[in-house]
Amino acid sequence: MRHIAIIGSGPAGYYSAEAAQKKFGDDVAVDIIDRLPVPFGLIRTGVAPDHQSIKAVSRRYEKTNLGDNVRFVGNVTVGEDVSVAELQDLYDAVVLATGAPNDRVLDIAGSDLDGVIGSAAFVGWYNGHPDFKDLDPPLDARSVAVIGNGNVALDVARILAKTEAEFAGSDIVGHALDGLKQSKVEKITFLGRRGPHQIAMTPKELGELSQLERARPVVETADFPELDDDAVLDPGMRKSVTHLRNFQIIEDDAQHKPIEIVFDFFAMPVAIQGDGKVEKLVVERTELDADLRSVGTGERYDLDCQMVISCIGYRTPPIEGVPYEDGRGRFANIDGRILPGLYCVGWARRGPSGTIGTNKPDGFAIIDAIAEDIGAGEGKEGRAGLDRLFAERGVEAVTFRDWKKIEEAEIARAREGSPREKFTDIADMIAARD
Ligand code: NAP
Repeated sequence: MRHIAIIGSGPAGYYSAEAAQKKFGDDVAVDIIDRLPVPFGLIRTGVAPDHQSIKAVSRRYEKTNLGDNVRFVGNVTVGEDVSVAELQDLYDAVVLATGAPNDRVLDIAGSDLDGVIGSAAFVGWYNGHPDFKDLDPPLDARSVAVIGNGNVALDVARILAKTEAEFAGSDIVGHALDGLKQSKVEKITFLGRRGPHQIAMTPKELGELSQLERARPVVETADFPELDDDAVLDPGMRKSVTHLRNFQIIEDDAQHKPIEIVFDFFAMPVAIQGDGKVEKLVVERTELDADLRSVGTGERYDLDCQMVISCIGYRTPPIEGVPYEDGRGRFANIDGRILPGLYCVGWARRGPSGTIGTNKPDGFAIIDAIAEDIGAGEGKEGRAGLDRLFAERGVEAVTFRDWKKIEEAEIARAREGSPREKFTDIADMIAARD
């Protein structure tokens, strides 16, 4: 019997568990450990609440959990309730699938002012992550600066711009919906330090901006390269840039929509200013060098805004004793191997890139590596040993069956038309399973 512990119950964790089931059949026991009492990580608290079709992949993860050889072990903090070293003693392989939940730091003056928020916090707030339920973003802001030109920036702007009716069918949490209903936002500005050909926004997500009830995307013709230059782009990127170009055309038809979503390209934030809270962003114009990197031109201007949300990527939190690559914000690894018996997968391995689906080949690859390394297993104690430790320490893990009770309670308390109203408090989650 092979014993595998996976830390993190998001897509990378579940695809790895599925791969282990497929590779080893009944000859493996997998424990998926999570700090929260609820599974699915990024699917639950990262993917936007109005993208329910993406969230539906959790049904596939649920199937993985229905087999006897995969167990969800929730409400257990690795590093507090059990250490990585202890897990390594008990399991043939320990896989860190901890994602990249920390914001890459916006390292400019004034980033500690009230009203400056990282995307992890803002996304966590509207998705009901217990860590961010009390965020209280300044939704009376009339002008919001969103730093970054990636899909997270798009999610954030879209959520800020939607009307209550546009959230029908979503699982946005009640506190966020109530807050957003009071929103005074009139202008959302994307600050992209490079140009339209360098965006990291995918076509489907970008296209949604032109469908919003009360908001219209605004682009500046002068920012675009010649149309013929689009020919060198790969097809997905060309589609995205075509959406951007089309925003120029739909602009006239959409004049009646009161919220502007402005694309400010070649714009690098250099400081945030205000008396205790954000009042303006100082921006420097950029141009591209020969390697398509952004370089400041020295020309500066101010953008009045009362909230700044930085969406500039994420980092994996280090774990004591586990080699870490600080520059890239992920575990030091070679193809997922960190140390003998210790692996990483997903964003913890490669950094925060790709779609949910990218984690599938990643999960299958790490199980291939583990199969090569551990053979038929070394007769380790596995989950029986973990249970013994928990009994000694009084750690009460949440099981998948418990989660199904929590889920039932979340479905029962949903507002009309919504699939669930998430508990945002860990104590409420635990109470719902009892
Ligand atoms: P991302 O795609 O890496 O985009 C980060 C953006 O921040 C880039 O435009 C980058 O510009 C900019 N940036 C980085 N450092 C900066 C700085 N110091 N100052 C100004 N701008 C800076 O990251 P993300 O948006 O967080 O998304 C993470 C991953 O999740 C991506 O793979 C994304 O596609 C995926 N995701 C997918 C969906 C979806 O499919 N619906 C939704 C959300 C997220 P440069 O290019 O110049 O570095």
